[in-house]
Amino acid sequence: TEDLNKTKPEYLKSFQYESKLMPSTWIVIRIDGCHFHRFSEVHEFEKPNDAQALNLMNSCAVAVLEEFKDIVFAYGVSDEYSFILKKESQLYERHPSEIVSAVVSFFSSMYTMKWNEFFPHKEMKYPPYFDGRAVCYPSCEILRDYLAWRQVDCHINNQYNTCFWMLVKSGKSKSEAQNYLKGTQAQEKNVLLDQLSGVMNYYNALESMFRLGSSVYWDKETRIVDNKEGAAGKSRKMVVVRYCNIIEASFWDAHSEILNENQQWL
Ligand code: ATP
Ligand code: ATP
Ligand code: MG
Ligand code: MG
Ligand code: MG
Ligand code: MG
Repeated sequence: TEDLNKTKPEYLKSFQYESKLMPSTWIVIRIDGCHFHRFSEVHEFEKPNDAQALNLMNSCAVAVLEEFKDIVFAYGVSDEYSFILKKESQLYERHPSEIVSAVVSFFSSMYTMKWNEFFPHKEMKYPPYFDGRAVCYPSCEILRDYLAWRQVDCHINNQYNTCFWMLVKSGKSKSEAQNYLKGTQAQEKNVLLDQLSGVMNYYNALESMFRLGSSVYWDKETRIVDNKEGAAGKSRKMVVVRYCNIIEASFWDAHSEILNENQQWL
């Protein structure tokens, strides 16, 4: 009988040990493309910013929000996306490995499924994949600090990459460009961009998607959605993609419903 007991589910499940994510905290799932430096080269992404690659990421994020209804906000830049689950979410009883794996695999499937829609003339050479992690943030203030951190990172990387690729396109080698930019301050980089491009305030005129990253959330307004035949179909809530400053309080003041616990309007 002892041998029989060893195949009992209760016995085998007793080895599964994973603590749940802290209750009543915002869960952030951050996914990031694995080896996208290489993936972007092999698939000839425009440098520093391939708009279609970003639009593909954004479209996958919209699909994630539509699938996982507990996700109230997402922020994306480059090959990464952060998904925020509402505080009281009970998705997978808050088991991190299940939540992370479900979001990551859904996103990766979508990325492959939608590839042709965004790159109709480019073959996908090998399958992309993403990793993910879960972090809990216990207050709205800290959650906003987290998002501000990602947006600041977007700005710093984008400013650097914009300079780097402008130097490379002007004839410098990659290591020359790297050395040239070593230790330069933000203001110097802006001056450099203006000089190289011959355009005043070159950086600030870049597309806001590149400068600010992409924010994805349910719009409060109900929209009338056209069906495929062009006639007015049923009305429904929509997930929208916006390029806005999420560091300033004004965005959150204007969209207080996003982090509000009682989202009755959803
Ligand atoms: P890791 O596996 O550790 O995440 P990685 O190669 O993916 O490594 P990241 O730090 O995640 O490195 O950076 C992603 C890289 O992917 C960027 O540095 C950039 O080269 C490339 N990339 C991602 N999105 C785009 C895009 N829209 N346009 C051009 N390049 C992109
Ligand atoms: P959950 O999301 O909780 O995993 P589930 O619907 O995936 O729910 P499972 O307990 O994982 O449920 O069972 C997988 C189900 O998928 C099976 O019950 C069966 O209906 C179906 N299924 C999986 N593989 C096959 C297969 N090869 N042929 C026919 N049906 C299959
Ligand atoms: Mg990584
Ligand atoms: Mg990456
Ligand atoms: Mg990355
Ligand atoms: Mg299953």
